[in-house]
Amino acid sequence: MTCNPHWLEIVENLAAGQESHDRPDIVARVFRLKGKKFMEIMKKGIFANLQAWLYTIEYQKRGLHHGHFLFWIVLEHKLRPEEYDLAISAEIPSREEEKKLHNLVMKHMIHGPCGPPSPCMIDKKCSKEFPKSFLQSTEQGNDSYPKYRRRKPEDEGQIGMIRMRQN
Ligand SMILES: [Zn+2]
Repeated sequence: MTCNPHWLEIVENLAAGQESHDRPDIVARVFRLKGKKFMEIMKKGIFANLQAWLYTIEYQKRGLHHGHFLFWIVLEHKLRPEEYDLAISAEIPSREEEKKLHNLVMKHMIHGPCGPPSPCMIDKKCSKEFPKSFLQSTEQGNDSYPKYRRRKPEDEGQIGMIRMRQN
């Protein structure tokens, strides 16, 4: 979970001429409240079978707050790769069927574009290994991390366009 400096709760509490980076006190409070709400939703709503959880909140001097969350859930059997798709998607939502979600993912969740001068570039390659390969179905990776389904456009995958940042 990453703090968004454009959250309404932050923006509507700024004085005229202020930017969110001028008010780290407001940013910290809003992030804290949203983090608590997120945990409430996870405990009561999404993961009714939640056994334990752990989270850590981090920030750098010039960066925004972000949280890493880990949840342990009780299951009757070991999760199969195809069942990951019920809770996690690494695909772009449909522009026609899920327009709002599509726009949010395109605005906030797309890595890149890679290439100089992006900080992800190390030895002329993206250190986050983007772009990821297309994959017809979710698979268990060799390092305990799943490889999520990323279908090609001709196999019901979705595409989207992002613009290069202007500096
Ligand atoms: Zn990259």
